[in-house]
Amino acid sequence: MRSTAHHADVIIIGAGIAGLSAAHLLTGAGVGVSVLEAASTVGGRLTTHEVDGFRLDQLGPLLCTSWPELTTTPGLGTPELREFAPGVLVHSDGRRHRTGDIRSARGALRAVRTRSSAPQLAPGGYGDQLRTVSRAGLGARNAGLKGASLKGAGLKGTGLIGTGLRTTGLRSSGTVSDAIDRARLGAALSRLAATPTARLLARPERTALAALTAGQMPARTVDAVLRPLLSALLGDPGLTTSSRCADLALRDYARGGLCVPAGGSGTLPDLLAASLPPGTVRTGVHVTAADITTVRTKEHGELGCRSLLLATGAGAAAELLPGLRVPAFRPVTVLHHTAPAPPPTGRSLVLDGDRAGPVAYTAVMSEVDPSRAPEGRTLITSTVLGTPPPDLDRSVRTHLAALYGTPTDDWELLAAHHDPEAVPAMEAPHDPRRPVRVLAGLYVCGDHRDTSSVQGALHSGRRAAEAILTDLGVAPAHLGGVGLPEAA
Ligand SMILES: Cc1cc2nc3c(=O)[nH]c(=O)nc-3n(C[C@H](O)[C@H](O)[C@H](O)COP(=O)(O)OP(=O)(O)OC[C@H]3O[C@@H](n4cnc5c(N)ncnc54)[C@H](O)[C@@H]3O)c2cc1C
Repeated sequence: MRSTAHHADVIIIGAGIAGLSAAHLLTGAGVGVSVLEAASTVGGRLTTHEVDGFRLDQLGPLLCTSWPELTTTPGLGTPELREFAPGVLVHSDGRRHRTGDIRSARGALRAVRTRSSAPQLAPGGYGDQLRTVSRAGLGARNAGLKGASLKGAGLKGTGLIGTGLRTTGLRSSGTVSDAIDRARLGAALSRLAATPTARLLARPERTALAALTAGQMPARTVDAVLRPLLSALLGDPGLTTSSRCADLALRDYARGGLCVPAGGSGTLPDLLAASLPPGTVRTGVHVTAADITTVRTKEHGELGCRSLLLATGAGAAAELLPGLRVPAFRPVTVLHHTAPAPPPTGRSLVLDGDRAGPVAYTAVMSEVDPSRAPEGRTLITSTVLGTPPPDLDRSVRTHLAALYGTPTDDWELLAAHHDPEAVPAMEAPHDPRRPVRVLAGLYVCGDHRDTSSVQGALHSGRRAAEAILTDLGVAPAHLGGVGLPEAA
């Protein structure tokens, strides 16, 4: 199969990561592909801008190291990922505390054991759960709980959301109850990490907030840890997202923690585009109309194809193919500041546990990924979820001063980017595997067909390529069959 300037076996509209990953799988199977991109560069929402030597992402920084597509998408190779410090730093009641680190459970339990006044400790009752974690391959190394027992930990259930997790005293650092709470949270996350997708997707579906508050978890645990963490993972401050999607997001977080691509998120689409056959991607080509065999463009007239894949994002896809469902979207604003010196949080992701200002989460990105700032300079990246306040920079600065515990008057705003359609909302009921095949010859992919994330976009591209190859009768070359709802 081959492509010419005016014909391709498959035309893909949109060079975001979904379209590019599909292109990779198709060209790898010998299919002639033309990717048409309206913008002057590839990447779509995954774009990194160079400003005064800083590498500034247009989007929020949260990827999960456990996402299978990050390491198995042909063309990405093994991308360099920069990890955040384990767990998260939650700012609440005027101080920051580290939580949500499954590896901290061992230390917390040891602290509990050494205290004579630890009536909560008793043998038995927890070993089965630990064995489950070990059997699942995560092992006590990650769980950090080998041989430990906590009576009445209340960890029944398949996910963390809505389980009977009882956690108290999260803010009383150094106390026995604090250590137990950390251990319980770490253990619950470990257990969630070992829970197969099928089990999570079989749970009742409601809003994430309803699932969180309906469980036996104290409101303080929900407010101080899980609510800010889930809001950040889902880009959803109100937590109206499907509880199943919330379980999946928390499970993926628990499996490996958070990371960013080295050099900026734009390196992912750049890697994909660079390893496609020369001439496959044509930027600056805006598609105005399309059907299965013909694509009309603003710049180059009509192009012909045997199959068409819409990889444009939900809104643009529905314009080209009326009738496609358009989801609601969650707005996100990302701000980049530079400061004379780095705030003292190292590589940690800092969450606002009090919802006391516009910033949902923030990090010193030059500590997480030094290649994003010139030598000796500091880059702080902060994310505002929902509708931003009118006095954005001023209110964000005030909030950042509280979160980092340092004055921010002399910080300089490098860039702010607002996207009203940043992520498709995943309200219940949400199908994380929406069909990618409209009919033979016509396909659609993108984060709106899967989960609203980089993993979801890549996985939808894989599913679309698979469907196209099946319809063309071409044997897939390297469709590994990984993705979000794996069987583990
Ligand atoms: C501010 C923000 C924060 C985010 N935070 C996170 C996060 O922390 N973690 C995470 O995993 N995800 C996050 N996301 C979501 C993530 O960026 C997306 O899920 C993913 O990039 C979607 O990729 P895609 O290929 O499906 O779509 P897109 O990246 O939107 O690609 C679609 C492409 O199609 C092109 N196109 C559209 N119409 C036409 C046309 N008519 N002709 C030709 N080309 C066209 C567009 O120019 C674009 O390049 C965030 C997104 C934003 C905007």
